[in-house]
Amino acid sequence: MARKNVTEQLAPTDEGLARAAQILEAGGLVAVPTETVYGLAARADSAEAVAGIYAAKGRPSFNPLIVHVKDLDQAERLALFDERARDLARRFWPGPLTLVLPMREDAKLAKAVSAGLPTIALRNPAHPVMQALLDRIDFPLAAPSANRSEEVSPTRAEHVIASLGERCPAVIAGGPTKAGLESTIIALRGERRLGGGWNLLRPGPITREALEQVLGPETSHEKDKVEAPGQTPRHYSPGKPLRLNAQEVARDEFFIGFGEIAGDCTLSPQGDLSAAAANLYDCLHQAAASHRPRIAVAPIPESGIGQAINDRLKRAATRS
Ligand code: AMP
Ligand code: MG
Repeated sequence: MARKNVTEQLAPTDEGLARAAQILEAGGLVAVPTETVYGLAARADSAEAVAGIYAAKGRPSFNPLIVHVKDLDQAERLALFDERARDLARRFWPGPLTLVLPMREDAKLAKAVSAGLPTIALRNPAHPVMQALLDRIDFPLAAPSANRSEEVSPTRAEHVIASLGERCPAVIAGGPTKAGLESTIIALRGERRLGGGWNLLRPGPITREALEQVLGPETSHEKDKVEAPGQTPRHYSPGKPLRLNAQEVARDEFFIGFGEIAGDCTLSPQGDLSAAAANLYDCLHQAAASHRPRIAVAPIPESGIGQAINDRLKRAATRS
């Protein structure tokens, strides 16, 4: 039996935003567009509201959430910023960079947001709809991607509804997202004057090269320690076997092309990596919905945002 869809679709207007703010204030969930992917938002200062995110996604409780803030002031009430963190915020916010910083002891956040870690992941999103929403409310929003855990992230309101259905009471339909990949996550270690370094926890739209220009080379860290638990090998799964670096396609495969290698869906016929990032999840959703039992993907260059695309594809290809 087809699932009844009862997700309320809100327009990105004053009226829609007022309704979204009302649901959030009462501790409910609202899916919102950001410049990366659609997020499933709840007030980050309420244990019940945050528990609702984990339940709707089927997300394991050890996987902490990113908290979205309206500005640096709100961020500084939640985490300890040193000059280096402030410099990064000034350069890259609003934008797709998440900073993992020591949490303030007096931060008004539900415990589950950080999954018990002493650190907190913060981001100031650039999407005008998300910004207008954050401006209407006086609490930060915890918001992971608006999909069931391990599934492909949503870049359109329809993807949210297809994955979460009635588990998501409302979605603000703000059109397709621009970057198409989740934010870059970095952790700042200790204070710089004491020799503190930094680590890239998840590649994303802000490239390693851009970060190295500000922070210098990444410092070594214990790779085997699963510190960003969402970075487990299996993630972004389209639910079918996926073959990488394919030059040609087999009969039973849905082919995702790039550049001159055209497919059933082509990430960017011009070979543009930003366009490919923006289209990646949409192509994976199409591949998942297709009647063909397998997926093959053309090679993607490992430069700039290509690193983040290949990171997601490798995880999508991991079966267990
Ligand atoms: P998602 O919101 O689904 O895109 O995933 C958020 C990502 O941020 C996950 O991979 C988390 O593990 C990571 N994350 C959130 N908080 C922290 C933290 N305090 N330390 C390290 N990683 C974090
Ligand atoms: Mg996710």
